[in-house]
Amino acid sequence: MTEHVRVTFLGGLGEIGRNCLALEQDGRLVVVDAGLMFPEPNMYGVDLILPDFRWLIERRDRVDAIVLTHGHEDHTGALRYLVKDVNVPIYGAPLTVGFARHRLTEARVAKDLTFIEVADGERRRIGPFEVEFIPVTHSVPSAHALAFHTKVGVVVHSGDFKLDATPIDNRRTDLARLAGLGDEGVALLMCDSTNAEEPGFTPSERSVGVALRRLFLERPDRRLVVACFASHVHRVQQIMDVAVAQGRKIALMGRSMEANVKLARKLNLLRVDAAHLIDIENVSRFQPGEVCVICTGSQGEPLAALSKLSRGDARNFAVGADDTVILSSHPIPGNEWSVGRVIDDLHRAGTEVIHSGHEPVHASGHARQGELRTYHQLLRPKNFVPVHGEYRHLVHHAELAVSMGLSPKHVLICEDGDQVVLTKDGIRRDGTVPAGFHYIDGSAGDLDERPLEERRMLAEYGVVLISAGVDRRTGELVHEVNVTARGWFAGDAEATVRQALTDAVREALVASLRQGERDESTLNKAVQRAAGRLLGQRFRRQPVIMPAVVVI
Ligand SMILES: [Zn+2]
Ligand SMILES: [Zn+2]
Repeated sequence: MTEHVRVTFLGGLGEIGRNCLALEQDGRLVVVDAGLMFPEPNMYGVDLILPDFRWLIERRDRVDAIVLTHGHEDHTGALRYLVKDVNVPIYGAPLTVGFARHRLTEARVAKDLTFIEVADGERRRIGPFEVEFIPVTHSVPSAHALAFHTKVGVVVHSGDFKLDATPIDNRRTDLARLAGLGDEGVALLMCDSTNAEEPGFTPSERSVGVALRRLFLERPDRRLVVACFASHVHRVQQIMDVAVAQGRKIALMGRSMEANVKLARKLNLLRVDAAHLIDIENVSRFQPGEVCVICTGSQGEPLAALSKLSRGDARNFAVGADDTVILSSHPIPGNEWSVGRVIDDLHRAGTEVIHSGHEPVHASGHARQGELRTYHQLLRPKNFVPVHGEYRHLVHHAELAVSMGLSPKHVLICEDGDQVVLTKDGIRRDGTVPAGFHYIDGSAGDLDERPLEERRMLAEYGVVLISAGVDRRTGELVHEVNVTARGWFAGDAEATVRQALTDAVREALVASLRQGERDESTLNKAVQRAAGRLLGQRFRRQPVIMPAVVVI
């Protein structure tokens, strides 16, 4: 084959989460990000969802590095699973690598790993490529876009970004360098699509500080509890600045909040005088108007600080009528229900609650259409693949690229598992690899679709145990058909269904026995079939059916 670069998409195309792709040239591979995804409510018992790493693991000898765009969990959270099999140097900004290293240390897999910190604007050889780390603004500091200098031209991966002209740390997206790459010629752009459906521009992170300042000023005598992502260092900085300006002491709540603040202060990315910080245990020694608590749990995570506060389960203090809780966040799709419940519980405790639904206390970290257009205009890519989004986001982003003048044959909407080949002439699809959801059940480890499907049936329809005893010699029932059920109908309905089920099963069983059938597993199958047919057709139910016919 002529000179080419192959891209394999392992996650993040068709969902928000588990971002991962591999770039390949001359048989050598570089992985970009290894993220996780949080489960939907109907994925019972699933704690995390990972990319399917089998394809990468089979090629581990050819993998040279993992490059991280930024420190969010949807880009780094699956590392702890990947590095067990693919132990290669991990590149990223100091904060990105710091967050990742912390999580890997917690998971006890960090020991033999090599972390390599890169500076903004740095260009270095990684595997078969020269890779440039271009600063971008996002909802975590030190985020990077990546430019891979390859044999077929420059490949740009946008990372997650917005174009914030007034970021808290004044570290702006390096538009000049992006324009420079555009002048050199960009062979392929892969770009964040999260907000591709949204017109206009995402507000600056600074706008959140303005809203917080007003809300704090209006509540001088109330205790303020603000929840946000622990990785959102700039949000934390703004909350701290407002609190300090009002003479409040600041307490941190939640393990990841404490750990991330510690790391960010060490890297000088978060500035707060230690004199303003107090231990969470001492919060109740102060008047409500004298403190501000910054906590985790803005997504309604049941084990995080805010959920505990809402239920009155927190060890150190309780919220009540003197408190205002601000959710400085927006629920990630799938979390709306948990967040709603936390808000309800807080109201039950008499607490005032402020959230992004009625006050501008959150700004997204992702570019909307206006910013995406600017980005495309600067880079003028020859080929384009939208990444980081649900399918509809990818479609909208592809349409945007075409409206910017790209020919549709140079725009590919890809999904997880797709492989594309980039040459000097263009881009084309070239095969697929396994890329299904890899479920992790915290207690039991790996999980595939089958137990999950059973859990769904159990949750929706319950379980039915059908037992009977058969005499091998006579073919008579020596123990009558007995139906036990959990989690289905109540009261009279239950008795009706149970009777109908018992009759149907008995009939099927006796019929089999009359034909001389004595094989236990065949008889159990007959019972299963009869029960399934009756429950499905007459009662529209599909419980898990467990037949237990014993031939004695
Ligand atoms: Zn992301
Ligand atoms: Zn992100």
